[in-house]
Amino acid sequence: MGSAFLRSIIKLSREVLGFSDIGIIGLNEKPRSDYELVSKYSELYEHLKTTVISKHDWAKTIIVLIWPYTPYKVHFPYGLGVYSAHYKQYPLGRNSAQLLSSFIEKTGFRSACDSGIPVKAAAFCAGLGKYGRNSLIYTKEYGSWITIHTLVTDAVFSYDNDFSEIITDCEECTLCMDVCPTKAIMHDGELNKGRCLREYMLPKGFVPLEMRKLMGSCILGCDICQIVCPNNKGRYAKAVLPPDDEVKAFDIKNILCDGNNMDNILDYIANIVGTNYAKKESILSAAAIIAGNLKDIKFVPYLKKLLNHPNPPARAHAAWAFAETDGQSAKDILANAITKETDEYVKLEMENILLCANASRNHSESDKPGN
Ligand code: SF4
Ligand code: SF4
Repeated sequence: MGSAFLRSIIKLSREVLGFSDIGIIGLNEKPRSDYELVSKYSELYEHLKTTVISKHDWAKTIIVLIWPYTPYKVHFPYGLGVYSAHYKQYPLGRNSAQLLSSFIEKTGFRSACDSGIPVKAAAFCAGLGKYGRNSLIYTKEYGSWITIHTLVTDAVFSYDNDFSEIITDCEECTLCMDVCPTKAIMHDGELNKGRCLREYMLPKGFVPLEMRKLMGSCILGCDICQIVCPNNKGRYAKAVLPPDDEVKAFDIKNILCDGNNMDNILDYIANIVGTNYAKKESILSAAAIIAGNLKDIKFVPYLKKLLNHPNPPARAHAAWAFAETDGQSAKDILANAITKETDEYVKLEMENILLCANASRNHSESDKPGN
């Protein structure tokens, strides 16, 4: 099969596979001269090309695939961890990309699905979308409610998409910057990743104290900067809640109650968001942080139990959540827990909680009339 014919089949397969758009970046041709009108284009294209060639020196073309989805509403029922539809949709898009890659291989060309390629740069260079100030790619039809997938092949295709000469449609808008709870979005469209809440979802380690309170009830993902975006409004109006039986897997009380023995929940969560995210300790840590933000006394018995969990971050997050919910009873329990604590960082966190509790008691006593 010739590469021109293969290219037509790939384009035609778009809807069958579930993609809203497919773009092509030729790696061996000089980009059209009008591309250079875009100041950031050449930089992104060179970075993309170097990354791909360093991993697959046989690659001649990058195929960029846009998988659209409908976002979830942000207000989940009380007591459930909120998760973004992105995490359920990503594996579906990736499966379709893998199907396309296998098909290309069957036609005699080489092909690889690769998650190490900078997908946002690829989508921009393929002419499929523009950058938002929040650093996400926005497509015309689906806004930023998309997942982006790439595959590389040694079939030679050339560019074909209409290309916009501007990198962003944001103009004077700064809404996403203004509402971001951690102020992670810079005016120039750079994202301070270390401040973005998505970096701390289903954590493997200790979540910084200042981030815990800002995570609210989010267990996986933060969509705030996308929800407020005027370029996403039409699509967000169609937002739905996940199916009832699915959200139950993210019931915070059930997760905390199961503690060590959460194999059934774990399998269920893995089916929804993939095995990469479905790690027992990470889910327990996230559930403890959400409990601390809900400050609901019904979680306290489970948080107390979690203080004995073998995973240090789970113990630290439980101690924090316990103190946030019921500072007075937490004091005695944590004073006792410190004597048995083996992890220096967890011990330090517990000591700080006690110090703060004592300082606030001394402060309120000194405020009493007569002092
Ligand atoms: S995902 Fe949330 S924390 Fe991250 S930049 Fe957007 S609003 Fe800020
Ligand atoms: S909210 Fe405004 S600044 Fe942010 S991505 Fe959307 S249009 Fe751009």
